[in-house]
Amino acid sequence: MSDCIFCKIIAGEIPSARVYEDEICVAFNDISPQAPTHLLIIPREHFDSLAKAESRHRETLGHLLLTAAAIAREKGFAEDGYRVVVNTNRDGGQTVYHLHVHLLGGRPFFFPPG
Ligand code: 5GP
Ligand code: ZN
Repeated sequence: MSDCIFCKIIAGEIPSARVYEDEICVAFNDISPQAPTHLLIIPREHFDSLAKAESRHRETLGHLLLTAAAIAREKGFAEDGYRVVVNTNRDGGQTVYHLHVHLLGGRPFFFPPG
């Protein structure tokens, strides 16, 4: 997807502060953090949203969540807790259409969100 900003971040064409990467995903700091830690974890493979996920994405989706949990442990807020968010399509508040997992930690969160 040549016009996708997250594909450009993966390619290094747009700079980002990477905190983790492997063969399946890349994690980097959100440009507009909503918590002391606010990362985005994205698959290297472009797909638009959770609504476009297919059964072949099963391993990738699981990997994104396990990566979020591992980063939370590494950053030291796993026991206190954290929030994982996948905004999906218009009503879900999605603004970038390359599937991504938000990992937010370092403060309490409330439910339901707005
Ligand atoms: P969404 O609203 O789609 O769930 O989340 C998109 C997120 O991407 C937002 O939290 C926004 O701050 C972040 N974002 C948008 N553009 C950039 C960028 O160029 N670099 C980084 N690091 N984050 C971005
Ligand atoms: Zn993309």
